[in-house]
Amino acid sequence: ISPAAQTISRIHTDHFIGGRWEPAGAGARFDVENPATGETLAQVADGDAADARRALQSAADHQAAWAATSPRSRSEILYRAYQIIMDRADEIASVMTAEMGKPLAEARGEVAYGAEFFRWFAEEAVRIGGDHTVTGDGANRIVVSKQPVGPCVLVTPWNFPLAMGTRKIGPAVAAGCTMVFKPAELTPLTALLLTEILTEAGLPDGVLNVVTTTDPGAVVGEWMGSGQARKISFTGSTEVGKILLGQAAGTVMRTSMELGGNAPFIVCADATVDRAIDGVMVAKMRNMGQACTAANRIFVHRSVLDEFTDKLSARMGSLVVGDGSHDGIQVGALVEGKAVDKVTTLVADAVQRGARVVCGGERPDGAGHFYPPTVLTDVDPAADLMHTEIFGPVAAIIPFGTDRADDAADDEEVLRLANDTPWGLVGYLFTQDIDRADRLSAALEVGMVGVNTGLVSNPAAPFGGIKESGLGREGGRLGIEEFLDIKYVARPIA
Ligand code: ADP
Repeated sequence: ISPAAQTISRIHTDHFIGGRWEPAGAGARFDVENPATGETLAQVADGDAADARRALQSAADHQAAWAATSPRSRSEILYRAYQIIMDRADEIASVMTAEMGKPLAEARGEVAYGAEFFRWFAEEAVRIGGDHTVTGDGANRIVVSKQPVGPCVLVTPWNFPLAMGTRKIGPAVAAGCTMVFKPAELTPLTALLLTEILTEAGLPDGVLNVVTTTDPGAVVGEWMGSGQARKISFTGSTEVGKILLGQAAGTVMRTSMELGGNAPFIVCADATVDRAIDGVMVAKMRNMGQACTAANRIFVHRSVLDEFTDKLSARMGSLVVGDGSHDGIQVGALVEGKAVDKVTTLVADAVQRGARVVCGGERPDGAGHFYPPTVLTDVDPAADLMHTEIFGPVAAIIPFGTDRADDAADDEEVLRLANDTPWGLVGYLFTQDIDRADRLSAALEVGMVGVNTGLVSNPAAPFGGIKESGLGREGGRLGIEEFLDIKYVARPIA
């Protein structure tokens, strides 16, 4: 029996409501599958609207007492949880790899990244400030303070099972909000393990309430329509985000939306190609391409196109694909069969519209949801994968400019292509010219830009998008503000 299986056999698989583990009211359970092997890892409680109601009632009942706790005590809970996560890093990583497929080395990276949100917000909990000024006529004080928004609905995706949870739970705990949390149905085990860790770290009963379900519309819909939840923090598809925004309007809830992306990755004529290759390997291949920040459209100036394409296909072609729990694996299984179907269809469409397959492109037979690292070049900007999140290990190269000149018209052309999307999460650009970097960064319609780097995510930075990529920011100094309301008190100066 593997270490992952041992850990999983000990994880509580029921709902966590008011500090108690309890099965779904209707007794239903669903299977959690290992995408690399097809094996069933566990069966977890399958909640319905009645379970959701109990969980939210618990959050509502505990809100006032939790808000009254000291910032330092909330900070210490987060810091202890950070330490427990780091102490148990290997174990948590093995559970993540088992339920979603990423290679162990990447899962360990996510453990460190995810834990860091707790350390960051442990530090922020004791620094919630306010403001104190005087009206223009000198007659009144303006006292501005911050209060927790109240019970929060947290809904997370499967691609970063730990970090997407800690990025929301961390600031909610720091701010003094109670929570109802629904992790993705494909990866509930990491979230349940995280819940145990928070309890061990001293989180009081009823502050975090967790419901797992295969019917997210019913569970989250119950929370959104209740009037008891004051905020929703969602990470997932733009499609579901729009449904939730509509529901939030019903009771004017605060919203944070981290939705899809369609990141442009721009390699200018003056870029250092080797650096751009290192960058694109991270921006494309982190999590097997299953990230909203993944480089979806790789625009390469024609003067460096051949060198870039050759070097990229050499790197992509040498990656070792397989079960992420085995040593030396660099590319694991995609999360489910549907993901492989989608990538296969997108590649076929691009090829049909004239793209050339430089490496990969063949779906393998056998068990597990695998797709090989693939490089396509001469992709037509009209191809479906230019307008869809690929969410797989497929690098799509679109040439721009001419093979001789490198001028402002080329920058204009690539900006037009890059901004031709309703999404606006992140963009990457590689150039050695700092003025060009400033110009392009300013003109890219995105919330985040990586200049000569393929990785922007960091707990200390404000993560988030514009346009249809979302609302609000997670992490950084701004992250906690999403969980705080402002209260202004007027007081005459005697
Ligand atoms: P992804 O493509 O990452 O699976 P989804 O938006 O479908 O994106 O899923 C992200 C999260 O949203 C998951 O936890 C999922 O269960 C949840 N979800 C899916 N549909 C709904 C819905 N109608 N209402 C609320 N949450 C939903």
